[in-house]
Amino acid sequence: MNPDIRQENEEVDLSVVVPVYNEVESLKPLYHRLQEVLDKMDQSYEVLLVDDGSIDGSLEKMKSIHVENNRFKIIQFRRNFGQTAAIAAGFRFARGKVVVTIDADLQNDPQDIPSILEKMEEGYDVVSGWRKNRHDQFLTRTLPSMCANWLISQLTGVHLHDYGCTLKAYTRDVVKNIDLYGEMHRYIPALASWLGVSVAEVPVTHHSRKYGRSKYGLCRLVRVLLDIIALKFLLSYSTRPIQVFGLVGLVSTGLGFLISLYLAVQRLFFDRPLADRPLLLLGVLLIFVGLQFISMGLLGEMTVRTYHEAQNKPIYFVKRIID
Ligand code: UDP
Ligand code: MG
Repeated sequence: MNPDIRQENEEVDLSVVVPVYNEVESLKPLYHRLQEVLDKMDQSYEVLLVDDGSIDGSLEKMKSIHVENNRFKIIQFRRNFGQTAAIAAGFRFARGKVVVTIDADLQNDPQDIPSILEKMEEGYDVVSGWRKNRHDQFLTRTLPSMCANWLISQLTGVHLHDYGCTLKAYTRDVVKNIDLYGEMHRYIPALASWLGVSVAEVPVTHHSRKYGRSKYGLCRLVRVLLDIIALKFLLSYSTRPIQVFGLVGLVSTGLGFLISLYLAVQRLFFDRPLADRPLLLLGVLLIFVGLQFISMGLLGEMTVRTYHEAQNKPIYFVKRIID
């Protein structure tokens, strides 16, 4: 089916997006638990199982689930594109007024969906699950995650205890207006803060992984750190790069200029030779680095304009127009 035709189909109350990468054993139990919870809720729903290039027979399992209950739909990727891509695809094809994301490995509990939706009804745009009692290895998973959560909260002003929990709910407005790249699925509430949304948190249960294994190793730590830098930049300066790069550039050039001036005065008026002074190197370096930063800012300004104008993407987000 042409995916874009699907978007025009009628709306449902709730879309559940599940990224699936080699989770063959947990799919059936997940299906039963999801179905049980969703059927009880008296809302029209769809479940989008996004097969992220699984090679363990997950797709066949999903097909049999779809045959049993056609509200469970499958989006099949051609290869493994990563969890962020899977979630982005779910967002794109979701028809729900509210969209919930949940892991396929049953570490999140479908039983928590109703309480999350209840919170949404209070008027929030994003409700995030908080794995208060986390069942992952402390040193390699929970502790780094605590540090990352603290850092992201400080930098973005969106204070959440648990960014990493996939179980979250979003309004349609949020999912249709957010662009995900890299591994940014972890930071959707922070990214959405740019849209001016209200965010709430609800404690959820967390189980240890029963089937299969985690798709992430320790090198996630470095990637998360780099992503946080990108996130801060995108949120604060993406529409005015010259203000960041330019500032650094000006400070550096200024400092370099002062150092060089000081050395020049000493050389010209007090006859101090320049050859044995390492400070000269620093001065020259600072001037060059500074000029480079300023040009980087200018290039950034051009890129921003291309980015927004090429896609007709405004630099603001309208909630409604009262006419
Ligand atoms: N996942 C995915 N594509 C990937 C890696 C993971 O769709 O490339 C899915 C995976 O199947 C699971 C969810 O993303 O449903 C979270 O992955 P995982 O449980 O390995 O992460 P962890 O809980 O260890 O942080
Ligand atoms: Mg998991």
